[in-house]
Amino acid sequence: MENALGQFPPTAAAARARLADFAPKAGESYARNRNFDFGPVRHTRVSTLSPYLRLKVLDEADVSRAVLEHMDGDTAEKFLTEVWWRTYWKGWLEQRPTVWAHYRTDLTQLHNDVQTQSGLRNRWETACLGKTGIAPFDAWAHELVRTGYLHNHARMWFASIWIFTLELPWQLGANFFLRHLLDGDAAVNTLSWRWVAGIQTRGKTYLADPDNIAEYSDGRFADVHGLSPTAVPVAAPDAPDRQPIMALARYRPTPGARMGLLLHSDDISAGRLLAHLDLTPVTSAYLDTAARQSPWCIAPHIADFRDAMAQDVNPGTDILRDIQALVHWVRENRLDHIVAPHAPVGATRDVIARYRQRDGAVPVHEIRRDIDSAAWPLATAGFFRFRKHIPELLDRFMRGTAAPDPS
Ligand SMILES: Cc1cc2nc3c(=O)[nH]c(=O)nc-3n(C[C@H](O)[C@H](O)[C@H](O)COP(=O)(O)OP(=O)(O)OC[C@H]3O[C@@H](n4cnc5c(N)ncnc54)[C@H](O)[C@@H]3O)c2cc1C
Repeated sequence: MENALGQFPPTAAAARARLADFAPKAGESYARNRNFDFGPVRHTRVSTLSPYLRLKVLDEADVSRAVLEHMDGDTAEKFLTEVWWRTYWKGWLEQRPTVWAHYRTDLTQLHNDVQTQSGLRNRWETACLGKTGIAPFDAWAHELVRTGYLHNHARMWFASIWIFTLELPWQLGANFFLRHLLDGDAAVNTLSWRWVAGIQTRGKTYLADPDNIAEYSDGRFADVHGLSPTAVPVAAPDAPDRQPIMALARYRPTPGARMGLLLHSDDISAGRLLAHLDLTPVTSAYLDTAARQSPWCIAPHIADFRDAMAQDVNPGTDILRDIQALVHWVRENRLDHIVAPHAPVGATRDVIARYRQRDGAVPVHEIRRDIDSAAWPLATAGFFRFRKHIPELLDRFMRGTAAPDPS
């Protein structure tokens, strides 16, 4: 089994090459075969673009445009729907940030429970180490830890078995994914786990079924026994009311002021940001917040992938591992302010918020891409309402490069 960086080379050129290779296959073949998980290093029927989309080395417009050069929108419909599903989850969480805050609070409590309750610790360790005796589950646990990737169907089966057969808290499962996935994302991951658990779409759970696993794992896992035959929705509070998307103050460069550009894993490629706003930073840095994604340690391949990508996209950029390093970077470069791509709900936003509260912190101006400003507010309710807007989003953002919001 190839390791994570072997399977996902951390360069923008590799991302573009993967997109170019996959784009002609995004039509009928994808619609017919996308649910088949052929196993490690054989994920040939899906795009495996998610680690690159996660860092915004590619965005929805880049991917949609490349695909529509080969086929019409109807033929690509299934694939484009998946691509924009990610955007929908981002917008949904952006308008309900307390869902992330509650998940983090639950996780802190569970971190303590795992230390103090040996029964829970043993069941959790057995699952994370892939030693449950449920063959496909154990294989997916190993694949995830080794490669930083799982097929979507495997993620659904895995989460379902974690919650309904092993009866482990969904938050620990979501955390296990965030500790290993190269594409691990606060919105997509948290909300997908909630969806499997029957919290996101109230009362609608996802049950892993042995026949379905046998068929879609291409026969690799026939005769799976011991799975829960039922999936009772997990109890949870109702979703909070929507809040407006965070408003960003309009950024006006001050002549003579020393500005530092701060990149992070929610938008690692700032080239467009600079080009559109004609910004000339005195220095740039990449803020690594991977360790903040979990109270437990994070797989080294996550930081390795992001660091290498940061260097590839912005050669020579400094890498800052914590707030102390950020403070030092600001001081050493005598910065008057920082410009950063907008950090949506997640670990990086939490770190930037903590920096802003420090004495002597310089202002951090966030700039959001226009595509996000336009799409996220449309995630008002369920996905099917959002989906109706995909054609107009395609129309608007495929005409040119996706410009950042000038705010
Ligand atoms: C429990 C669970 C946890 C998940 N956690 C994450 C996560 O942390 N980060 C993440 O990017 N995806 C997550 N997903 C969604 C999905 O599994 C991955 O995006 C997909 O498997 C990535 O592989 P791909 O690029 O080959 O996908 P493709 O099928 O080629 O799809 C193309 C792109 O569309 C988007 N996409 C595809 N499926 C979904 C989906 N179901 N929901 C939202 N977006 C989708 C991704 O950006 C993906 O790269 C999760 C799904 C489940 C069930």
